Amino acid sequence: MNATFQEIGACLEEAESFALLSHVRPDGDAIGSQIALGFALEAMGKKVRLINEDGLPDNLAFMAGGDRIETPPEAPVEVDVVIALDTATKPRLGDKALACVEGCKRWINIDHHKSNPGYGDLNHIDDGSPATGQILYDLITELSLPMPPETRDAIYVAVSTDTGSFQYSGTTVDTYEMAADLVRRGLDVGGINALTYDNHPMRRVELMRALLNTLEVESEGRVAHWQLTMDAVRGLGLKPEDSEGLIDIIRAIQGVIVALFFEELDTGKIRVSMRSKDKRVDACKVCQQFGGGGHSLAAGIRMPGPIDEARRQVIAAVNEELSQLD
Ligand code: AMP
Ligand code: MN
Ligand code: MN
Repeated sequence: MNATFQEIGACLEEAESFALLSHVRPDGDAIGSQIALGFALEAMGKKVRLINEDGLPDNLAFMAGGDRIETPPEAPVEVDVVIALDTATKPRLGDKALACVEGCKRWINIDHHKSNPGYGDLNHIDDGSPATGQILYDLITELSLPMPPETRDAIYVAVSTDTGSFQYSGTTVDTYEMAADLVRRGLDVGGINALTYDNHPMRRVELMRALLNTLEVESEGRVAHWQLTMDAVRGLGLKPEDSEGLIDIIRAIQGVIVALFFEELDTGKIRVSMRSKDKRVDACKVCQQFGGGGHSLAAGIRMPGPIDEARRQVIAAVNEELSQLD
C-alpha cells in the first residue's frame, strides 16, 4: 500500500535527521533524487546525509550539491529516518550503505520501479512516473516544501536522464509541465543540458568503438547485443559510468526490439542492461527470471558468469518472450 504524500510529509516534518540513499552504480535519477530531496530537507532546517555505495560518478560531478554525496562511512550513521530513492530492491543500496544505517529503524522508500516490493515502513512506489525525480517534484510542490536551486536543477537532471532527454514513452504531460515550471523557477536549460550531454571524456568514445566491435544482431534482426570484458575495461582505463546510456545506440537500430549490454564486473558477476521497444515484450519480466528487475522497457540483472553463458541464457529468455509476437 502506498503512503500518501501527506503521510510522508508528516514523517519529514516530525523527524530531525535523515540519511538519503540510492542504488549502486548510480545514474542521474539516483543522484539527482538524493540532491533534490536532501536540499529541500536542509532548507527545512533538517540534518541530512547523502550516502551512496559507489559515491558520485564523474559524469554527474557537475551537479550543484554533488559534493555532498559521500561513500558509506565506517562509523554508524545515526539518523531518525532513512530514505531509499530510485532503488528497486533493498540489496541494490549496497552492503556498506546498508551496514552504516543498520541502527535506523524508520525507512521511507520512494521509487518508480514496478518490481519494487515496498521494503520501507512508508512506501511510495509510482511506476507511472518516468523518474523518481518527478515523484519528488510532485511531493515537494504538493506539500509546499522549499525548492532551492540545487533541488530544482537536480530534479531536471534526474528526469531528463531517466527519460532519454524527455523522449521515452513514459514521458507525460506532467513531465513537460514540470520541466516548464523548473525553467520558470530559473533553471538554465542550455547550460544544464550541455553539462549533462555534451561533456563526455574521450574514454567514452573509445568505449563506443570497442563495443561496436562486439555488436551482433540476431533473431531476425530483433535482438541486438554488445559486450564489455574486464580486459577492455582495464585496457581503456574505463570507469563504470562511461557506458551510461550507450545502449540507446543499438536500441535505436531499425527493426531491433530488444537491446542487450553484457558487462563483466570485477566481482566476477555479469551486469546486464536490457531495453525493449515493444510494450508486449516486458524487459522487467525477463530480468526478474534472473533475479533482476526494473521497468517494462528498461531493466537490468546482476548474474553469475561467465559472460558467454550469461549471454546465452538471457538471449534464450528474450527469444522466448519474443516468440509470443509471432
Ligand atoms: P540500467 O540498464 O542499468 O540503466 O538499468 C535499467 C533500469 O533497471 C534502471 O531503472 C535500473 O534501476 C533497473 N535495474 C538495473 N539492474 C537492476 C537489478 N539488478 N535489479 C533491479 N532493477 C535493476
Ligand atoms: Mn536509477
Ligand atoms: Mn529512475
